[in-house]
Amino acid sequence: MSDCLFCKIVANEIPAEIVYETGRTLAFRDINPQAPTHVLVIPKEHHADAAALAQADDGLADEVLKSAHEVAVLDGVSEGGYRIVFNTGAGAGQTVFHVHAHILGGRDLTWPPG
Ligand code: 5GP
Repeated sequence: MSDCLFCKIVANEIPAEIVYETGRTLAFRDINPQAPTHVLVIPKEHHADAAALAQADDGLADEVLKSAHEVAVLDGVSEGGYRIVFNTGAGAGQTVFHVHAHILGGRDLTWPPG
């Protein structure tokens, strides 16, 4: 999508600190980190949110989850515990409508989230 911020990151039109990439996924650091590890994992293909990603019946959601875990391993937070968050819909705080998993770790994470 031409007006999608994360599609522009995929297309290299906007810079991002890439930490991991597969054929169909990309992981980059959040511009406004909420934890020592705060990485966003996206499918390169545009899907608006997690509900739309779930409809993609070709294993893409699996690949996003596997990339999320790989990011946690690479960033050294897989042992201490980390959180994978999909804000889904404006009411849940989603602001960028290209589905992304937030990978958060490296500090104590409280529950419930705000
Ligand atoms: P949401 O609120 O949609 O769940 O999360 C969107 C995330 O994208 C936010 O955590 C925000 O900081 C991040 N973000 C917004 N614009 C940019 C950008 O241009 N580059 C990067 N790396 N992250 C961004």
